[in-house]
Amino acid sequence: MSTPTISQESKAHYIVQEPLTLTGWFRNVFGAIKSVTTGMGITFKYIYGVKPVSIEYPEVREVLPENSRSRLFNDVENCISCLQCANACPVDCIYITAVKRGADAPKIKTKDGTPIRLDLVQYTIDTALCCYCGLCTTVCPTECLTHTTDYEFASYTIGDMKYDYLAPDIRAWRHRIVK
Ligand code: SF4
Ligand code: SF4
Repeated sequence: MSTPTISQESKAHYIVQEPLTLTGWFRNVFGAIKSVTTGMGITFKYIYGVKPVSIEYPEVREVLPENSRSRLFNDVENCISCLQCANACPVDCIYITAVKRGADAPKIKTKDGTPIRLDLVQYTIDTALCCYCGLCTTVCPTECLTHTTDYEFASYTIGDMKYDYLAPDIRAWRHRIVK
């Protein structure tokens, strides 16, 4: 009767189980203790505040740096409807409509003295599409469009993330989120 042969491929998957010796058993136990001790050492280091990595939100809130790019705000009273923000936006999520002011309309200016020649009738940003790149704020000539440091604006629906900056409730953010 001939001895069964093993193909080259199946040989590659063979695992040779060494018989467990007393030395090997102690080595395994030592390795397990070392690994648990190292892991627990890291755990206790964080538990006892050597280097805290989390805060007790919402009781504790972080203050973001001034130049953070968080929730956008347009102070529409200083917007001249120039469309530069909308043209710069890489995802086309800024929607602006403006009409020419009548010749007999009172002359008005922004806070930096720029004449306002158009009446803004719609200024909406769909922040669900926004990638917070900051290009729109960079090109704004009157600096009325800014990123604020407000980061608490989760909402239940995508539609709620489309902000109409002419709406009274959103205009009221000015006092809450604009520094
Ligand atoms: S920050 Fe948002 S809205 Fe502004 S340009 Fe970038 S994607 Fe568009
Ligand atoms: S760039 Fe500034 S001023 Fe021009 S439309 Fe946009 S927000 Fe208004």
